[in-house]
Amino acid sequence: MMEPMLIDLHTHSNASDGTDTPAELVAAAGARGIDVLAITDHDTTAGWTPALAARPTAMTIIRGTEFSCVHVSPEGRRISLHLLGYLYDPANAALRDERLRLRESRLVRGRQMVENMAADGVDISWPQVQALAGDGPVGRPHLGRALVDSGVVPDVNTAFRDLLSSRQPYYVRKIDTDVFTAIRLVRAAGGLPVFAHPLARRRGPVVSDEVIADMAAAGLVGLEVDHPDHDADDRVHAAALASALGLVATGSSDYHGTNKTTPLAAATTTVSSYEALVALPSFLAPVGPR
Ligand code: AMP
Ligand code: FE
Ligand code: FE
Ligand code: ZN
Repeated sequence: MMEPMLIDLHTHSNASDGTDTPAELVAAAGARGIDVLAITDHDTTAGWTPALAARPTAMTIIRGTEFSCVHVSPEGRRISLHLLGYLYDPANAALRDERLRLRESRLVRGRQMVENMAADGVDISWPQVQALAGDGPVGRPHLGRALVDSGVVPDVNTAFRDLLSSRQPYYVRKIDTDVFTAIRLVRAAGGLPVFAHPLARRRGPVVSDEVIADMAAAGLVGLEVDHPDHDADDRVHAAALASALGLVATGSSDYHGTNKTTPLAAATTTVSSYEALVALPSFLAPVGPR
């Protein structure tokens, strides 16, 4: 009998806020038996080329990006959310400019959060964070790692809970992309937009089903149903919503190396969903046997 295919469509390398290099990420995926891997660093394509260079011949790699977005309600309530864009044209000027702007915003905001903490006597410095982020987009996990290194907190998870979360006074907002704009930008660049962890309430407020329906009408093609931040009820709800809206239901680990405890393939996408996704027209093709 054939082994079931393992498909993980959302992972991070140290091109953003994961801890594995893209080559290490691909090697770890190979060791885990993953057949299809999407590399989806935040607001960048920098991991794509080294990931492809490290690809074992039996593995398929999907090039993607997780875009930092915001939904603003008619009453002005802001909810941050993440949009995965797969297989889009990296040279598309409008989307490339938006990635650049998002990375700039991460830099300004990361610096401001460090200043807020340092001013309050927390042992953290900007050069320390810069050394961890390298040339890549700065994320709160880099701040968390710096706080662990300084001995302020025992682990990144505690850093999020006690210092970095949006509920803490040190938090500074990024200037993220309006999610409807992001959906249109990804589509215009030939990409496939999928709403990442739509019901991850632990991270903060989430958008309503009505907003997700509006996103579907704006060109969204998929919904991440199986995700470590979704409990069993969330998954049932998201699956029903995806079905009702004609969206592809995906699943993924959102692996970040040792910055998070979630292992690769902690959640996965079914073969039929994967096939439905890649059957849609896209600028880039998956690289590999399937
Ligand atoms: P940022 O994009 O800079 O706002 O930071 C958000 C990132 O932090 C996301 O990629 C999350 O996956 C990650 N994150 C959120 N909560 C935690 C946590 N408790 N521990 C580690 N990473 C987290
Ligand atoms: Fe992340
Ligand atoms: Fe995310
Ligand atoms: Zn992610």
